[in-house]
Amino acid sequence: MREVTESELRSCFVNATRRELEQLPMPGLHETIWGEREYLGWRDPRSNRLGYMVHWRGEELIGVVVHGAPGGLRPGIAAMCSLCHSTQPATQVRMFSARLAGLDGDTGSSMGTYICDALDCSHIIRTGPPHLVTSDRIAARAESLLERVTRFTGRVERAIRES
Ligand SMILES: [Zn+2]
Repeated sequence: MREVTESELRSCFVNATRRELEQLPMPGLHETIWGEREYLGWRDPRSNRLGYMVHWRGEELIGVVVHGAPGGLRPGIAAMCSLCHSTQPATQVRMFSARLAGLDGDTGSSMGTYICDALDCSHIIRTGPPHLVTSDRIAARAESLLERVTRFTGRVERAIRES
């Protein structure tokens, strides 16, 4: 995939408030290798609640802002990311919600889902014991991950349009 400009990235978020866009922390775009990223996810270093997810949908970029739930899941249990379907220690999976309406204020509906805490599913599915991360397996997981992410951002986009 081609390189992305800062303004392109800034304008691809379907559910960001003006304030969130103004304060958007830029990821290191020059370091971004889309070839091994179904989506680019990053957290705001100044606010551990905010997160950003961006991916390609054909030729266009689509992004959503998500808010991590304060606190985490109970340590000691296992939890599954709803996007990459990796089962991990609960502290590495967090409930994130995407705003579906109410871009003018804090009110409005949202949709929540469990996602890898660092929004790094693409890395997670490529990590593990060699017999579990064969290229066939990675390809299959990557395809499913992209499908689920696309469904997730698509639902947010539709809800925003209808709100
Ligand atoms: Zn994940």
